[in-house]
Amino acid sequence: MGAIRIAIVGLGKIARDQHLPSIAGNDAFTLAATVSPRGEGLAEVPNFRSLDALLADGPAIDAVALCTPPQVRYDLAAQALGRGLHVFLEKPPGATLAEVVALEGEAASAGVSLFASWHSRYAAGVAPARAWLADKMIRSARITWREDVRVWHPGQAWIWEPGGLGVFDPGINALSIATHILPRPFFLTEGTLSLPANRAAPIAADLSFRDSAGTPITMDLDWRQTGPQTWDIVVETDAGTCTLSKGGAVLTLPDGVEAREDREYAGLYARFAELVQTGQSDVDVAPMRLVADAFLRGHRMVVDAFED
Ligand code: NAP
Repeated sequence: MGAIRIAIVGLGKIARDQHLPSIAGNDAFTLAATVSPRGEGLAEVPNFRSLDALLADGPAIDAVALCTPPQVRYDLAAQALGRGLHVFLEKPPGATLAEVVALEGEAASAGVSLFASWHSRYAAGVAPARAWLADKMIRSARITWREDVRVWHPGQAWIWEPGGLGVFDPGINALSIATHILPRPFFLTEGTLSLPANRAAPIAADLSFRDSAGTPITMDLDWRQTGPQTWDIVVETDAGTCTLSKGGAVLTLPDGVEAREDREYAGLYARFAELVQTGQSDVDVAPMRLVADAFLRGHRMVVDAFED
């Protein structure tokens, strides 16, 4: 198989920061085109104002990476799958669970690969944490994800709209790690979502989960943190404490600290190449299901209005 000719759809922050360098650094791919509604393309490949325009007039492609906000992703993905293209979905994979499940069926019918990516699962500490925890007795887990929304999401109106997830946009990354490293499935028991008076999505959330063995798991999400930022998961076990910090990049176990270089998106593109080459899909909605349950079962509390 020759290099996979891929188009990036949605040339925003994550496409520029991570997808472009990861595609350039992986011989399994060649960037064939971009789609950017504002027309701000790159010098080296053709840019189109819409996926329609790319499919009508563009170069031949094998795959698309959808880096748009989640609210528009289903239609783009369905259109690409319908044209026999492999599809890489940024996280979260859609705006609703049902649309992601529908896409999985559409990919299977089209005989192409669908990858619902979770970049945080590829952070350096996550695989060794999962391996270490596999045979431990877990007593509790605590997730703390506190960051400054003004630093990380300046002016991103979509993130505050329905389907944009608010503080769960980063929070779902923590859940993508927790659902991967904890050996048993867990589920929400109670939660509070703090909604700014002028916004449709939460700015903070305080959640309690438990797993099928009764293990308590808590999650503290807050977008109002200034100063040092916190992206930690602390798991207490019968053999000591396992701490993942810096979003999964640094792992601390009772016998020492492991920290390695950031390879999240390189790992995602290696996985996507493998899926395309072996004719498989990878669609795990577990992190998104927990977020949906928080919206389904959490209390809502109105807090101060938020302005960018
Ligand atoms: P962003 O900077 O707002 O970029 C989104 C891009 O999508 C914009 O360039 C926008 O173009 C484009 N777009 C919107 N509708 C489109 C359509 N119908 N067709 C083609 N392009 C369209 O957002 P982002 O931060 O990159 O986030 C995008 C996704 O990546 C989100 O799901 C987010 O959770 C995920 N993600 C983000 C980060 C991060 O650090 N920012 C990290 C990991 C994952 P216009 O501006 O022209 O409308």
